[in-house]
Amino acid sequence: MGMIYCSECGKQIDQNQSSCPNCGALLNSHIFVQSSKAVQSTDIVENGSITICAMIFSFLFPPMGIVLGILGLKKQRSKTNINLCKTAIVISVILTIVYVVILANLIPVLVDTADTIEKGNRIKNFLNDLIF
Ligand SMILES: [Zn+2]
Repeated sequence: MGMIYCSECGKQIDQNQSSCPNCGALLNSHIFVQSSKAVQSTDIVENGSITICAMIFSFLFPPMGIVLGILGLKKQRSKTNINLCKTAIVISVILTIVYVVILANLIPVLVDTADTIEKGNRIKNFLNDLIF
């Protein structure tokens, strides 16, 4: 971590150094290339559990998927995890809307059914009272 390559001589040097110990070039006066190996290793080492949880919850319980996805975007550094968090948020938002629409349609039907059963029972009781 923190290793860069000198644009003058190509030697790997510490990012905190103000000048190259090999050729003496000033660090902020030249363009330095960040080590691609260092970037790759942080990508692999990073703990992606928040991202994985966000993906799982986006299907099981979308509101939680949105929360975990936003948390992941703040905490995750690697491109793979950030992209997965964005995907999880998109899936969560879509599924939240779908679930809300389904529930909004389902609840009145269930309430109506309960009402019908109650009405049916009242009619039965009324008929029973009449006959017996
Ligand atoms: Zn140098």
